[in-house]
Amino acid sequence: MTRSLFRSARTTGKTLRVVLIKPSKYDDEGYVIRHFRGVLPSNTLACLASLTRDVAGRRLLGDIDIEVELFDDTVEKIPVRRIIRSHRLPRTRTVIALAGVQSNQFPRAADLARKFRAGGLQVLIGGFHVSGTLAMLEGVSPEIQELLDLGVTVVKGEVEETWGDLLRDAAEDRLRPLYDFMDHKPDLHDRPIPMIHGDYLRKFIVSNFGTIDCSRGCPFNCSFCSIISVQGRKMRERSPEALIRTLRENYARNRVNFYFFTDDNFARNRHWREIFLALIRLREEERIPIEFMIQVDTQSYRIPDFIPLAARAGCTQVFIGMESINPRNLEAVGKTQNHVQDYARLIAAWHGARVATHVAYIFGFPFDTPESLRSDVARLQSELQVEQASFFMLTPIPGSQDHARMVHSGEPMHPDLNDYDSFHETIRHPNFRPGELAASYREAWKNFYSFDYMRDVLRRANPENYRNIFFNFIWYRNSTLIEGGHPMLHGFFRLKDRVDRRPGCVVESRLRHFLRRSREIRATLRSWLALALEMEELWLQTRKRSEAELRLVAEIQSLRSQLNRNLRAAELQLAHIRTRLQFPELRVPSRLALALRNLNFGMAKRLAYSRSDLRQFWQRATARPIRLLARPHRVVLNFLKDAQLFFLFLRDLARA
Ligand code: SF4
Repeated sequence: MTRSLFRSARTTGKTLRVVLIKPSKYDDEGYVIRHFRGVLPSNTLACLASLTRDVAGRRLLGDIDIEVELFDDTVEKIPVRRIIRSHRLPRTRTVIALAGVQSNQFPRAADLARKFRAGGLQVLIGGFHVSGTLAMLEGVSPEIQELLDLGVTVVKGEVEETWGDLLRDAAEDRLRPLYDFMDHKPDLHDRPIPMIHGDYLRKFIVSNFGTIDCSRGCPFNCSFCSIISVQGRKMRERSPEALIRTLRENYARNRVNFYFFTDDNFARNRHWREIFLALIRLREEERIPIEFMIQVDTQSYRIPDFIPLAARAGCTQVFIGMESINPRNLEAVGKTQNHVQDYARLIAAWHGARVATHVAYIFGFPFDTPESLRSDVARLQSELQVEQASFFMLTPIPGSQDHARMVHSGEPMHPDLNDYDSFHETIRHPNFRPGELAASYREAWKNFYSFDYMRDVLRRANPENYRNIFFNFIWYRNSTLIEGGHPMLHGFFRLKDRVDRRPGCVVESRLRHFLRRSREIRATLRSWLALALEMEELWLQTRKRSEAELRLVAEIQSLRSQLNRNLRAAELQLAHIRTRLQFPELRVPSRLALALRNLNFGMAKRLAYSRSDLRQFWQRATARPIRLLARPHRVVLNFLKDAQLFFLFLRDLARA
């Protein structure tokens, strides 16, 4: 569906239509990775939408009107033909901006660019792939040259100070092949803050979640990272006042109150104190319940006041670039700011402030072996006790020092950029047989997000963080085990467009596609049911109970052990009355309600610590269905109990 963000006030002049597109990538079968609901909205789209609105608002193009549309390929189909058709309207120029294109998205972006160019439209492409590659390699790489030959305009660097000039060139049909803004990195201080659009957010699983980059750059020098070659090692920050104004506005307009501040290293944002203090005022004086997660380096815990102020400002989760717990690996990749001996103190410092920790961990560093990786994952759980880990396969990302070195030395690299998503094996590692690194990697996801470890984490979690961690577990299990991809790329319920397939892949007949998708959807629904029951069990075993509830359960168990049988309604009522002596807020249900305990939601919730009895009943029932038919009342009762518990589970999650 078209999402027209805005159009400037009508004049009698020409119109420039700016179509902002965030490309997705292809899966291993050549289908575009697209979901019914995504998880992470694109910050680049929000940035460019705000910049375009600013250009229109200040009428930088004179009497040329501006219309903007925004599409995210990861959550919606790009209406290529309609966009091309609308270009034929009189006195209208259309420019396509393929925004924030990373290396793994480049093949998809290039295919979209070809289609739009064939339709006669002007196309811009920017982002980490083109900027990083052009910054680190001499000359122009073949895939970028191919786009230049097609007439696509390549934008190297950031456009905060030059977007108006680019759009003017587009409106006047005089775009140049290459714009190079790399040597002049824009000052972000007074540039428009990325604004979140409500309609766009509704494409995501939670619509109160936004992303904003409060700063860019990083002072460190890790050899696998392309941030430094694109954004530089000098930090550039947005104005804290403008940021807070935007958060206030986003809350008032779209009820957005949870943020991922996408700065690659928030701890090095020189305005962190001002931002945290302003957030504290928002939360404590204006009652705007902002919460957020940030990315920081491993030395963040040494910055005086940083952690306590972050926690008070609403930080619920911190993403830490740990990368490895082998010092030799860290030294080999230039991550010398990470000191393994400090990790326990670092994690304890964040835990002390009741902030959940989420570490980035890379597989494929020089000193990794299958055994060392297995033991590293176990140590993350047992020694460091981090709540979450995101695993990445070491990938020679164009724009990184590793990539440049490998190009110069002629080391083999996987030829398909589509696989540069840190979920595929793209380099040969001497300590691993082909495919073994990928196998270790997949095993790590499975082992880390095991039921037992998730249960331990949730039991330790502080009540305010319980819900966030629980949802993250659902998201991560769904992405890695059901969708089979990285959580940063996968949302919920995969869509596959039959005809929008990677060039070279055969487009299936309607019937064949229907049969295949029916099979896949059935398998997904089965996996979802298993995941839902697993998460329900996790909730039953870990949910936070009030003191009164714990006391009541103890009373009931003590009565039960004295009488050695199930309790009658009057006896259950007695347990409630006894507990109420200590906890006057406890409501005592009527005897009728207690007699109908199998239909009583309150009792079901208080007494259930697991659904293992129900699981065993259904297992026995399916193994011996004849016995089941002889006792239909037990089937009905257990079904009601199961349905009731599941309803309570969903209601609790929705309310928490
Ligand atoms: S990996 Fe992180 S710490 Fe290292 S250079 Fe990149 S952003 Fe900075």
